[in-house]
Amino acid sequence: MLAYSDFLDSQAFGVGLTVGLAVAFACGFASLFIAGRKHRSTLAFFIIGFLLGPLGMLVAVLVAPGESASEGMRAVICRRCNARQNIEISETQYECWQCKLSNSVGS
Ligand SMILES: [Zn+2]
Repeated sequence: MLAYSDFLDSQAFGVGLTVGLAVAFACGFASLFIAGRKHRSTLAFFIIGFLLGPLGMLVAVLVAPGESASEGMRAVICRRCNARQNIEISETQYECWQCKLSNSVGS
């Protein structure tokens, strides 16, 4: 009987491990996806989601977006003072917020 219950235990352990890994991967990829949309490190958030599960996903949701421009915008750097700002993609000219220089940007 001992061998049989050992077998059951290892089965349950195996199933638990498989489910646990599946959940870990799912949370990892969900965190990766969320982080990618926020221009954050996808690898870092995959690991966070993988290790912390739903908590990691929550972190990815709550974290502030990264530096890159959001959708419909692009990041530009002033040619005079190197100040960085986001402008709309369709804009070909903008005024620097820092030095007020009128920059023209190619597409
Ligand atoms: Zn400037």
